[in-house]
Amino acid sequence: MKNAIHYTIVAKDLAAHLFEVTVTVNAPDPEGQVFVMPAWIPGSYMIREFARNITQINATSGGKKLGLAKLDKHTWIADPTDQALTLRYDIYAWDMSVRAAHLDQTHGFFNGSSVFLRVEDQEQVPHVVDIQRTADPSCKAWRVATTLPELKAKRYGFGTYIAADYDELIDHPVEMGDFALGTFKAHGVPHDIVITGRVPNLDMARLSADLTRICEAQIELFEPKTKRAPMDRYVFMTMVIGDGHGGLEHRASTALICSRNDLPVKGQTEMADSYRSFLGLCSHEYFHTWNVKRIKPAAFVPYELSTESYTPLLWLFEGFTSYYDDLMLMRSGLIDEGDYFKLVAKTVNMVLRGSGRHKQSVAESSFDAWTKYYRQDENSPNAIVSYYAKGSLVGMALDLTIRAETKGKKSLDDVMRALWQRYGRDFYSDGNNAGRGVTEAEVEALFDEVTGLKLKRKLDRYTKGTDDLPLAKLLAPFGVELVDKRKNAKPSLGVRGTRDGNDCKLANVYERGAAHRAGLSAGDLLVAIDGLRVSATNLDSLLARYRVGDTITLHAFRRDELMSFAVKLLADDAPQMALTAQTKPAGSSRMRMAWLQR
Ligand SMILES: [Zn+2]
Repeated sequence: MKNAIHYTIVAKDLAAHLFEVTVTVNAPDPEGQVFVMPAWIPGSYMIREFARNITQINATSGGKKLGLAKLDKHTWIADPTDQALTLRYDIYAWDMSVRAAHLDQTHGFFNGSSVFLRVEDQEQVPHVVDIQRTADPSCKAWRVATTLPELKAKRYGFGTYIAADYDELIDHPVEMGDFALGTFKAHGVPHDIVITGRVPNLDMARLSADLTRICEAQIELFEPKTKRAPMDRYVFMTMVIGDGHGGLEHRASTALICSRNDLPVKGQTEMADSYRSFLGLCSHEYFHTWNVKRIKPAAFVPYELSTESYTPLLWLFEGFTSYYDDLMLMRSGLIDEGDYFKLVAKTVNMVLRGSGRHKQSVAESSFDAWTKYYRQDENSPNAIVSYYAKGSLVGMALDLTIRAETKGKKSLDDVMRALWQRYGRDFYSDGNNAGRGVTEAEVEALFDEVTGLKLKRKLDRYTKGTDDLPLAKLLAPFGVELVDKRKNAKPSLGVRGTRDGNDCKLANVYERGAAHRAGLSAGDLLVAIDGLRVSATNLDSLLARYRVGDTITLHAFRRDELMSFAVKLLADDAPQMALTAQTKPAGSSRMRMAWLQR
């Protein structure tokens, strides 16, 4: 393929965690070819500067070394040449996350955005990559899992893969190793579950069966008539470690990291919280196949990966995805109504815990994701709101509003389908609607168009306002009571403490809580309450001997200075909201069923 960009990648040194990559450009820019490494990866809104992991790089052309100069932290320019030009570089891959690259004797994993330099002005030509087997004998059993289309490679084999353009090249992560493999079909489309890491007695059959239900429920949500999935195949690429949780969405796969105990054990049938949470993660990333990988904010079309891309709409792309992830577990019958309501209550309580919710709207939180949500510090609960957590409640609030006001004729599902039909379905096609992102104004207009309601004021209040959502009122017609179950509130410092060796360190000091009023700070190391030592585990039991309104003397170290505080204990104001199903009002159980069941 003459006009294509050709890459090779090989695990060069497992112990040093080095991939070696080459990129060959047949027709380089005669003025000097520019190469750029992404600064961030789509789906994770933080500048990560992946070029920092390039440890050495050189250019050759016509068999001779070619000059290569650096223009900024992630950009290189090669000297002009009228022949093909090859760059060869090493990538240090030692980031155990779904966002970058990782390599050792147990496996190799990479996102294209961490390893493939972009050839400037040639992004639209085909990009071919030869994924080569390493010579190391310990890797003899390794296979390759990726949704990159095969050019000259067998499924799960090393060999040559092809992407239509650079954007596609970096949207199919690659796992290589001796992984466990499960397969299933969801409405006819093959799905793989790839598990890397040791998992004794993994119940792959149960995992496949449960994921089939989730995937089919989602395909039916977006395409109720044709039941057509948006991709030809899909891979759940999973790295299992002792303790971890996370995922990143791609157009035909997801990279996941989970804890060993999240995965089901052969012979066990109950739904453990940890397994349910893993299924929720899979459901979340799978929903992104539609919502953000095809229905996209205009700001992400095309992705500008050298610098921050600002959108006020992550409440829709992450928030609504978070609303639907657990709802899909409910609708596919994997959890019951009681479990579902517990998950919603957890989100409600999380949002209500931080006073930051009165300072930042979900639209602002979306816009500032780069510097605030993704770079949280000890003050975050007092300063920001999560566009995931509150965004999911905004999704629920709008869904309930639409259902109630249209007497069950319309729902948020109709809005998602309309977004899909107009902006998502043809995103990667050649048609008129190809490559169109959605703007904030178009989202607002679509809500009214689809539902026949006037929702702009509510939408504005929920997404650009900082008042609490009227959830109790909205849930009532569905026969769901939302009440705070707190009784005889305990005396509290209004802090979140964390273990620091055998000591208790303040991780967060909540605004207007007892500790804040007395002058304590996040980072303070608690020493004693009224002369009794505070340990890593006994804060609650020490406080339990007091009543609300009592004043205690609290000693704490700030830096290496011992300080003394008179703390007047306040009632614990952490909310304990709970949702419970009721039989009234009349007709409410029918509305609740229509909402929660398929
Ligand atoms: Zn997400």
